[in-house]
Amino acid sequence: MKYISTRGQAPALTFEEAMLTGLARDGGLYVPETIPQMSADEIAALAGLSYEETAYRVMRPFIGDSFTDGEFRDIISRAYAGFGHAARAPLVQLAPNHFLLELFHGPTLAFKDFAMQLIGQLFEAALKRRGERVTIVGATSGDTGSAAIEAFRGLDAVDVFILFPHGRVSEVQRRQMTTPDDANVHALALDGDFDDCQARLKDMFNDFAFRDGVRLAGVNSINFARVLAQVVYYFSSAVSLGAPGRKVSFTVPTGNFGDIFAGYIAKQMGLPIDRLVVATNQNDILNRCLTGQGYFKGETIPSISPSMDIQVSSNFERALFYAYGQDGKAVAQLMDELSSGGFNVSQGAMEALRESFSSGRASEEETLATIAATLNSSTELLCPHSAVGVKVAEEQRDPQTPMITLATAHPAKFPDAVERASGIRPPLPPRMADLYDRSERVSRIDNDLAAIETHIKGHIPA
Ligand SMILES: *Cc1c(COP(=O)(O)O)cnc(C)c1O
Repeated sequence: MKYISTRGQAPALTFEEAMLTGLARDGGLYVPETIPQMSADEIAALAGLSYEETAYRVMRPFIGDSFTDGEFRDIISRAYAGFGHAARAPLVQLAPNHFLLELFHGPTLAFKDFAMQLIGQLFEAALKRRGERVTIVGATSGDTGSAAIEAFRGLDAVDVFILFPHGRVSEVQRRQMTTPDDANVHALALDGDFDDCQARLKDMFNDFAFRDGVRLAGVNSINFARVLAQVVYYFSSAVSLGAPGRKVSFTVPTGNFGDIFAGYIAKQMGLPIDRLVVATNQNDILNRCLTGQGYFKGETIPSISPSMDIQVSSNFERALFYAYGQDGKAVAQLMDELSSGGFNVSQGAMEALRESFSSGRASEEETLATIAATLNSSTELLCPHSAVGVKVAEEQRDPQTPMITLATAHPAKFPDAVERASGIRPPLPPRMADLYDRSERVSRIDNDLAAIETHIKGHIPA
């Protein structure tokens, strides 16, 4: 199993190499050269299995020789041991034929834990075997950073630096990044927005002297290993509602397009998915693209669902790669145009995109109203991101087909918005109730590449 770049100009790598590399050297994103297939019988055989066993069977074909069967099983079992729910990703019913997939029972209460806990164990196993050490730098709109710091804290072979937009993450998100006191994890508050954080991260990867000097590795959602981890819960939830005998649809609160792209991979592997619905907040570049002609950047407007406050959705490049018939040159040209504002999508590619993805958006008012309405109709208290999903799902779903909306975070991660909408201030689960009492450690930093690189070099072992 080899991995190739969406821009066609970087060497093909193994799973392990692609995972440790993150962004390809031509600026592209790694994707599997061919997508492994699961037959209807293999999918049917997942019924009743544990989440871990499902994860093993779904992901194994993507891993190739990078890990032995036994190693990979141990990695999966360690990754999900710290979750607060035995089902890992339980499904609850909201309304007739509308279900909510609760992805917030991990250690930092957001779906990012599914991928990050796995990638932490994968990195540790790979680096130990190689006798190497790496510096992981990540950009976050809130949840990736806390999930990464939680997954990598205390590991021997890794230093972690997380860039987050100063003043634009929730207090719980910030505290989850700034309170772990392990010496190998560092929270950096950047003066800028999430797109600035992501742009500086890309700059660091494109500064080859720095990249090689600190042995830079990435765990942002551009890392294919993260996408892969998220493919699993599409299978586990669809099978529990009757797949492969019955088609299901998914609505996914979307920012960087990583989570919904995992659904696309699941569908390409053979899971019978009817619609994949992209749900955006007021930062709706993806909805505008899928309902218009092209992909044009706007201003990022802060919202009550901050983990989706994104204009440039990095994983959308992967969807474009497939929509353009795996033409790396065409993708490279689109990305060139994007750096000066945006691009039109060709008619054929747009048809291909619309065949897989529908979309919708929710305003701030609609999001708040959905939190209140869902609490009344089902007793489920949604976080604002999940509420964006539920609103769009209700609008778009076909009553004959089960709709699964992904609940991407626990309401206690965004208590202010949830309280505003519902009058209820959701408490943190007991296992993390002392978060507000722990002391914080954070460095404020300019939106300046040289300043960030100097800081990182000064905080890793020589
Ligand atoms: C990251 C995140 C999203 C967006 O996921 P993408 O993979 O970036 O599309 C949605 N909701 C929450 C709570 C998140 O943390």
